[in-house]
Amino acid sequence: MASPKPFELVAGHVALDLVNTLDNRFSETGPEELLASYDDLLGFAWQSGLLTAHQAKKLKCLNASEAERTKVLHKVKELREALAAIAYAQLDGNNLSASALVTLEDYFKQASFHRHLTVEQHRPVWSWRGLDSQVVAPVWLLAQAAVDFLLSEGSLQLRCCASETCRWLFLDASKNQTRRWCDMKVCGNRMKARRFYARKAE
Ligand SMILES: [Zn+2]
Repeated sequence: MASPKPFELVAGHVALDLVNTLDNRFSETGPEELLASYDDLLGFAWQSGLLTAHQAKKLKCLNASEAERTKVLHKVKELREALAAIAYAQLDGNNLSASALVTLEDYFKQASFHRHLTVEQHRPVWSWRGLDSQVVAPVWLLAQAAVDFLLSEGSLQLRCCASETCRWLFLDASKNQTRRWCDMKVCGNRMKARRFYARKAE
């Protein structure tokens, strides 16, 4: 499946990349929505490796109304914002929102109805039914990924970009825990340039 536009998956976990799809979340001029359509969502899920190209293509070609697809997109954004509320509260040392937790739990429970234990190489494994036949399938995968992340040891490495308007989430897997930018090329350089001009102005 050809992606309509590539997403910058720099976070180190798909749940955090999802939160980052609302770009410039803290900008005064308002954020930019990178998940503008159901096809964008499929592109994101495919690029993140949650869906295979084949599955994404089948979902794209499903006989579903525009209203159904829009509803799925709405669900993904609701899930994303609950996850964002929790992650930024953790980073800022604030109380975790009870309603965000309920939202996350609801989506996780809905998703779990579609998981089944099957056998792979003589071992039980979780697998999904309906991944390429139900438009809502990306929501299940993202809800599962969100809960997996928040309850994992890895979530202790949650950080956000030092740019005040960006604050993209990422995992700091660097040895000395010194990663400051979502992407050195983008935010790192932007801030360095700003400091350079500020010094010059003085
Ligand atoms: Zn950034």
